[in-house]
Amino acid sequence: MARKTKRKKKTKRKLARPQLPMQRQLNLRDEETHFDLRPIFERLNQRYFRGRLRGYRVVWGRRRKHRPRDHFVFGTIQEEDRVIRINWALNRPFVPLWFLQYVLYHEMLHSVVPDEVLSPGRRRVHTQEFNRREREFPSYRRARRWEEENLSRFLR
Ligand SMILES: [Zn+2]
Repeated sequence: MARKTKRKKKTKRKLARPQLPMQRQLNLRDEETHFDLRPIFERLNQRYFRGRLRGYRVVWGRRRKHRPRDHFVFGTIQEEDRVIRINWALNRPFVPLWFLQYVLYHEMLHSVVPDEVLSPGRRRVHTQEFNRREREFPSYRRARRWEEENLSRFLR
């Protein structure tokens, strides 16, 4: 699970089909959604972080045409912009809620556990402290096992 540093603004890409009015776009997106990220985030925030994560947006990443070949990024966090982005491929009925919760918890943990600076320009984000706290998550072991057993479903 990679953590991204701040990204540059992307250039706008042209829409292949005519743009729908905003309301219809939102409705369309709701229909396609299996999990609602916001309440899941809020519950985790209260339960494990005492509501410490403030001003975060939690969004699905953009859809990709092809599954990746050998590397799958479940989620990312951009702390500067306060955006947690979850891979849209997790928005599927076969994904257990506790796995999605684990993915979110992992990204949220990055916002409270400091990185270690190894040398100028080199940081460790999954520090011992991070790993220790990650293992405290109740479904950690189950989630890691599920990840191992199901990774191929997310790859090409
Ligand atoms: Zn991570």
